[in-house]
Amino acid sequence: MTSAEEKAGGQSAMSSAARARPSRSRGGLVSVEQALGFLLARARAPDEEEQVDLPRARGRVLSRPQVSRIDVPRFANSSMDGYAVRSADAGAAGRHRLRVAQRVAAGELPEALGCGEAARIFTGAPLPAGADAVVIQEDCSREGDMVCFDGPLLAGANVRPRANDIAAGEEVLAAGLRLRPQELGLAASVGLASLPVYRPLRVAIFSSGDELVAPGRPLGPGAIYNSNRYTLLGLLDALHCEATDIGMVADTLEATRSALRSAAEGADLVIGSGGMSVGEEDHVRAALEQTGRLEMWKVAVKPGKPLAYGRIGDADFIGLPGNPVSTLVGFCLFVRPFILRRQGVNEVRTRPLRVSAGFAWPRPGGRREYVRARLSGDVDAGYRAEIHPRQGSDVLTSAVWADGLVDIPAGAVVSPGDPVTYYPFSELLA
Ligand code: AMP
Ligand code: MG
Repeated sequence: MTSAEEKAGGQSAMSSAARARPSRSRGGLVSVEQALGFLLARARAPDEEEQVDLPRARGRVLSRPQVSRIDVPRFANSSMDGYAVRSADAGAAGRHRLRVAQRVAAGELPEALGCGEAARIFTGAPLPAGADAVVIQEDCSREGDMVCFDGPLLAGANVRPRANDIAAGEEVLAAGLRLRPQELGLAASVGLASLPVYRPLRVAIFSSGDELVAPGRPLGPGAIYNSNRYTLLGLLDALHCEATDIGMVADTLEATRSALRSAAEGADLVIGSGGMSVGEEDHVRAALEQTGRLEMWKVAVKPGKPLAYGRIGDADFIGLPGNPVSTLVGFCLFVRPFILRRQGVNEVRTRPLRVSAGFAWPRPGGRREYVRARLSGDVDAGYRAEIHPRQGSDVLTSAVWADGLVDIPAGAVVSPGDPVTYYPFSELLA
C-alpha cells in the first residue's frame, strides 16, 4: 500500500508491471508492491457509461470531464447584508453620508447607482452598476433615507466579483472522480442536472468451506458461522459496488467449478474466500484452471499470504484466504485498489499517517505485517498507535477493536516512540 500503490499507480510502474510475469523472490513469495502492481496492471478500465440524475449520482464515478458553460457567479454580488456604494464616494477616511436610493434583495435587478448614492443590499443580491463596494450593516447607522458610516471603504470590499468561483469554459470536474456531496453541489452550481458516470461494478462473491453455516441457523458439530460473506458485502457496499452473493460452496472440485461459472455470469468481478491453499480440501485453484485462467501469488505479507487472480470468461476473479482477518486485510490491500481502478477511479492510493508507536515489536518478522491497531492520544499530544495483543488471522474481535492497520516491514523491529505507518480504516473502508 505505502509505496506499493504509489509505484503501481505511476505510469512506468504500471507498464513494467504489465509486462512482467510474477517473478518470485524470497522463497517463492512476491512483495506487496509486486502483487499490487500485477493486479492493477490487469484491472481494465470500465467502458460502459450512463447518464444519472444528480440525486442518484453520489458514490458513482464520473466518466467524462465536465466543463462549465457559465460564470459562477454570473454577476458581481454582495457577500454581506449592508449598503452598496461607489468606492469613489467612500474611499476617504472619515464620516460618509449617502442617500439610500434603492433596495436590492437576492434575485432582484438593481438600477444603476448615481454619485453620492447608496443601495440597501442583501447577501447574494447583484451589485448595482456603478457600485463596487459594500459597507456591512453593522458598520452603518440610518438617518431617514440617509446612511452614515466611517471610511475608508476600498473598492471590492464585501463584493464577490463575477466568475469568482468558476469561469465559463473551465473544467470543473475531472473524469475518474468519485462523486461526493460537494461534487454534486458543484455540478448543480453550473446548471447540470445529471452526470455521465460509469456503470456500477458488478461483483459476485462466494464463500468456500464445508464447515460454513449461515448465521441464524443452528451450528452442527465442527461447523462455524460464515462471517466473510458479511465482511465482503459490507466492503463492497462501501465501495458502491453492485454485489451478489452466490452463497456457500462445498469443498469439492465440482461445486467450486459450478460456483465459479455461475458467479462469473453477469459479473465484472468474482471474489471468493477460502479454499485457496493447496490442501486436499482446497479446490479454487484447480477449479479456476479448468474454467478459466489462473495466476496465483504467494505474497510476502501477513495476514493474507495466498492471493489468486484469474479470469473466467469476461469476469475477473480474486481469491482471498478464508481466515476472517485475512479476508478483511487482503481486501483492503489488494482488492480495494483493483476495484477502484476497475471502477475508473483515478486515485487508487490509500494515504497513510505517520504516527508514533505505542508498542514494541521486538522480534523481526519474515513477512511484511499489517497489524491491527488503534490510535490513542490527541492532536496536541500527537497520536500513538497501540496494537492488539492477539494478531492471529482468526481473531476478528481485534479488527473490531482496531481503527486501522500499522504497516511493519519484514525484518523490522519497533521500539515505543518510533515512527510507524498507519492506515486508518476510515481510508481503507471508505
Ligand atoms: P481456508 O482458506 O479455506 O483454508 O480457511 C482458513 C480458515 O478460515 C479456516 O479456519 C476456515 O474455517 C475459516 N473460514 C473460511 N471461510 C470462512 C468464512 N466464510 N467465514 C469464517 N471463517 C471462514
Ligand atoms: Mg477451507
